[in-house]
Amino acid sequence: MIKKLFRASILNPKGPGSSEFYDDGALYVENGLIKSIGKFDDIAQKNKDFELIELDGVVMPGFVDVHLHWVQHRVRGQYAGELLSWLKSYIWPEEARYINTNFAIAAAEQFYTDLLRAGTVMGMSYSSPHASATEIALQKMRGDWIIGNVLMAINAPDDLTDYSLHDPVLLKDFMARTDRIHYAVTPRFAPNLSAAALGMMGQIAAASDVFIQTHLAESRAELAWVKELFPDAAHYTEVYDRAGLLTKKTILGHCIEMCDAEWQCLAERGSWVAHCPTSNEALGNRRMPLEKLREYDIPFALATDIGGGPSHSMLHVMQRFLATHRAADIPVQVQEALYRGTLAGAEAMGRDSVAGNFMPGKRADFILMPAMDPHDSWVGWFESSLAGSISELEERPRGTWLSGEKIA
Ligand SMILES: [Zn+2]
Repeated sequence: MIKKLFRASILNPKGPGSSEFYDDGALYVENGLIKSIGKFDDIAQKNKDFELIELDGVVMPGFVDVHLHWVQHRVRGQYAGELLSWLKSYIWPEEARYINTNFAIAAAEQFYTDLLRAGTVMGMSYSSPHASATEIALQKMRGDWIIGNVLMAINAPDDLTDYSLHDPVLLKDFMARTDRIHYAVTPRFAPNLSAAALGMMGQIAAASDVFIQTHLAESRAELAWVKELFPDAAHYTEVYDRAGLLTKKTILGHCIEMCDAEWQCLAERGSWVAHCPTSNEALGNRRMPLEKLREYDIPFALATDIGGGPSHSMLHVMQRFLATHRAADIPVQVQEALYRGTLAGAEAMGRDSVAGNFMPGKRADFILMPAMDPHDSWVGWFESSLAGSISELEERPRGTWLSGEKIA
């Protein structure tokens, strides 16, 4: 039995408006799982024969990023422009390179190294359409991820649609070879698939009880295109709803250009929104209406959307989350940013019983942040921890631990 007692200040998110903080705290870990959390004196007294690890700073849960494209990581922040031309000019040619196995292996190793360095320990990722690149991302996985080969059949270059597993037999075969807890059915978005293909994906996801991830209503140009391609649908959300793609295990990227009937539909289905404020800014899309999520009580978590988002830093996403909505006079608190970037993501992924914050029985996945001023409140300290440039924020965590082992 490996027993470790980590002594540090400890910040533990519990909900959108609640967190606990221990100035001189302890996290007691046995074989990689949290056994107890509390004040150092109490925890140290109740246990014995442990290795004491004293850390100078604030220990908090590692970040969860519920929407990104690992195959766009190399070109994050390099290009901008309107969504559809950005995809066609820059992103699809980059994704086509992932047919090359050696290229994909090197890129996957770099991706996980960078994410762990920035404090991200879990998330949901879109791969390229290639089964091989998706399997490489799963084999090289460090942390806890849900990944899907992005499915495209039409309105995209041949070198991407050729390899897309839109054929249901191929898709079932691929899922049989893949650990289902780490796989998501991943239609890229409605314009890349026919209504029939979307319907088949809904059926496959239902039969296998896997997660579903796709994009919804990111830009006005995309909305106009969907109206043209699916003229009989009342709205964009209905295209997915008819296909059976809206479930409690569905995570929808963006959700900006939405009408009330669409919010109502999401609320009824219990689907999640992945809110990507840095990507929305970078691609010149509008602000995601946070007030609508609140009005309809729709669950959401934060995400980088690399490469639409310029950085894989969830601290950067939290910074822009607060700034974007406050600029529109929508009140939003630091506690909520913390929760949406950690525990809420684990909830979206169905992993909140094993990760996302510090509770007995959960994995000891955490990061060390710089120490706070003794006179500061944790709220003031955390808000100041979100200030700075992208490169400063990517390097702000001082260490990352998975299951109680320091790995970055
Ligand atoms: Zn995306």
